[in-house]
Amino acid sequence: MYNVNDTICAISSASVTPGCVCRSIIRISGPDTFGVLGKVFTGEQPTRQGVFTGTIDAADGLVIDADVYTFFTPSSYTGDDLAELHFFAAGDVVQLVLTKILEHTRLAGAGEFTLRAYLNGKMDLSQAEAVAGIIESSNMFQLDAAEKLLAGRLCKTIGAAREEILDTLSLIEAGMDFSDEEDVRFISHEKAAEDIGSIRERLENILSGAIHYEAMIDLPSAAFAGVPNAGKSSLINALLGHERSIISDRTGTTRDVLSGVLELNDCRCTVFDCAGLTANADAADILDQLVQQAATEAINIAELVLFCVDMSKDDYTDDLEILGDLKVRQVILIGTKSDLVGESELAEKQSQLGEMFNAEIIMTSAARQIGIDELKAAIGSRLIKQLSALTEADGRIAVNQRHRDIVTNSVKSLNDAADQAVTGNEELAAMFLRNAYEELAGLEKEDVDEAILDRVFSRFCIGK
Ligand code: GDP
Repeated sequence: MYNVNDTICAISSASVTPGCVCRSIIRISGPDTFGVLGKVFTGEQPTRQGVFTGTIDAADGLVIDADVYTFFTPSSYTGDDLAELHFFAAGDVVQLVLTKILEHTRLAGAGEFTLRAYLNGKMDLSQAEAVAGIIESSNMFQLDAAEKLLAGRLCKTIGAAREEILDTLSLIEAGMDFSDEEDVRFISHEKAAEDIGSIRERLENILSGAIHYEAMIDLPSAAFAGVPNAGKSSLINALLGHERSIISDRTGTTRDVLSGVLELNDCRCTVFDCAGLTANADAADILDQLVQQAATEAINIAELVLFCVDMSKDDYTDDLEILGDLKVRQVILIGTKSDLVGESELAEKQSQLGEMFNAEIIMTSAARQIGIDELKAAIGSRLIKQLSALTEADGRIAVNQRHRDIVTNSVKSLNDAADQAVTGNEELAAMFLRNAYEELAGLEKEDVDEAILDRVFSRFCIGK
């Protein structure tokens, strides 16, 4: 059981980098918020919602200037009395202040402030999930999807669907109250089936038109592909700024799919270093075939393929064949080892390769760190274009797996209800309608069991 009647506190600002002094926030919420505040904060006594200036006695002789922001029930984030202490301090001092406050309160669990907001009716469950999403967001697209959830659009749509289910259900049940002999009906079988069908259709539209929240939460990925020895691993190491793959001039040194996280200007992405692809994979031994398969799978799931071709060679038959075989939508063509091409021949080689592969080519040299920033910018802008296409469409709702499961189950129940309604089996139709109604409740704030709450709130960090 959640204890929501005591007073909790936690640091709610980001952790302070060692050696730095930063603005920190400690949040206190619960019925004794102002009692606790009175014990640790000296200054103007807070009497109304607002900001108060004073000091905190953190430890013997250590007094810190602080501002206190106060919010009274029910107009606070949690819905309970809430105070935030804002002060500048080093990490150790922030901990001292927290320890002092903990003499009078308890440390909040992960997401407990938001849990209280939810339990106090300040937000619905999908909005609480969105807060977790915003905290987790590492790129602007995740943020966008989380904000779409926070706007509560899913809840509104589901709320409307539930009301319509209830309308149809009450018409069917009202008819059932009369005995068979009377044959009184408030809705015909056909009309009931039609109404149920249209609710089901609306729910199905949510499933098909929604933005999959996980697609936003997972980092987008870019797979490096090319023939063995094309210079993929060296280039990845140059991009990531550290040794990630084993580099050797023996072909096939990257046996597995290795990955790392690449920091770009507007987002981060996972990069896969795939084994060099060979044109005649069938002839290879079983181990090589498996390696090739793993590489191809990684390439197929990546949002973007970075196809590397060695600029220093003359024969591109294998490269062209392999690129042709890849079923990929988005490719950036990269010329590697540009340092091995003479200065005077570079431009000609670039346009020759461009024509041959029918794409613009970005020239790089991992050895000389040439073209690395240009490549990063190109990867970033391509991924951003793709991801924004996902989130741009207006009116789309962001849903996560839990939402999808619930909507899918209730669509099934509505299907069964419509089948029963059409054959005149009112009792079973009513039962399936009730199921759908109750299933959808999981998306609103009523009837949510603790296991679900645990799952949602365990994703939070302490202090939120
Ligand atoms: P992969 O098999 O495609 O991953 O290729 P590697 O990164 O292992 O590189 C294959 C060979 O090319 C190694 O001997 C590297 O030292 C060499 N190489 C890679 N990038 C460059 C570069 O930018 N310039 C030069 N001169 N050699 C490179």
